[in-house]
Amino acid sequence: MKYILVTGGVISGIGKGVIASSTGLLLKTMGYKVTAIKIDPYMNLDAGTMAPTEHGEVYVLNDGGEADLDLGNYERYLDVTLGRDNNLTTGKIYSHVIEKERKGDYLGKTVQVVPHITGAIQDWIERVAHTPSDETGEVADVCIVELGGTVGDIESAPFIEAMRQFQFRVGHENFALTHVSLVPVISGEQKTKPTQATVRDLRGLGLLPDLVACRCEQPLHAETINKISMFCHVASEQAIGVHNVSSLYHVPLLLEEQGLGRYLNKRLKLDTIQTSQAMM
Ligand code: ADP
Repeated sequence: MKYILVTGGVISGIGKGVIASSTGLLLKTMGYKVTAIKIDPYMNLDAGTMAPTEHGEVYVLNDGGEADLDLGNYERYLDVTLGRDNNLTTGKIYSHVIEKERKGDYLGKTVQVVPHITGAIQDWIERVAHTPSDETGEVADVCIVELGGTVGDIESAPFIEAMRQFQFRVGHENFALTHVSLVPVISGEQKTKPTQATVRDLRGLGLLPDLVACRCEQPLHAETINKISMFCHVASEQAIGVHNVSSLYHVPLLLEEQGLGRYLNKRLKLDTIQTSQAMM
């Protein structure tokens, strides 16, 4: 199983969900089976009790799970049927760990965020990623994990730490990270400082971005890409521009034009998946 984590920086509502589902769609067109998990670092068990005026429309899954609209994007883009466990919240993970504690599963131990909550997050992600989500009943090749919120938030800290550990648990060639950032335009100039700052925050937390996806109004200038490469410690092929488009269905094409498929193939050794399938 290959995992692609999508995180966001600078501001919320930056297009993480769209970039995550577009990455999944691109991999699907390359012949891989893709599933998805959305992490929402709020204390509610699910989105069912939140006011639509505050949270947006609730998306109801086949098993009755009430989730964020992003789950609907995944189902449409990836042609999968997701369940309530594909949406992981702080509320769900704490309630799961507390339930285990009451049963005596940690008897004698002090239950802590690290390692118990972070361990439970990793177990949850691995379990759900291996749950078939399409009509073939086969386990997916790739799981997209989108972390809601913004890196650096108190709420997302346990999830970030869990993913920091997770990259070692699953191995380097099975884990890639896309960090979505904002490149604002001030007096006609594309500014990279917010991206530099958020990548620095992410690195400080032990996660190194493989791709820096930059939301911007217009396509990124070559000079902007060079700057991001220079100051965010990534090669220029790892800086990808995602400008405003009239239809969200253009985003997968934008990613493909900039070599996302080629890069992920190389980084995650995706062709080894096909080899092992062909051998079966
Ligand atoms: P996040 O997951 O970061 O909260 P979303 O993926 O839900 O963000 O996107 C937030 C909003 O931005 C959505 O309304 C979406 O339609 C819009 N959006 C995202 N990417 C683009 C883009 N490239 N061009 C135009 N609108 C976009």
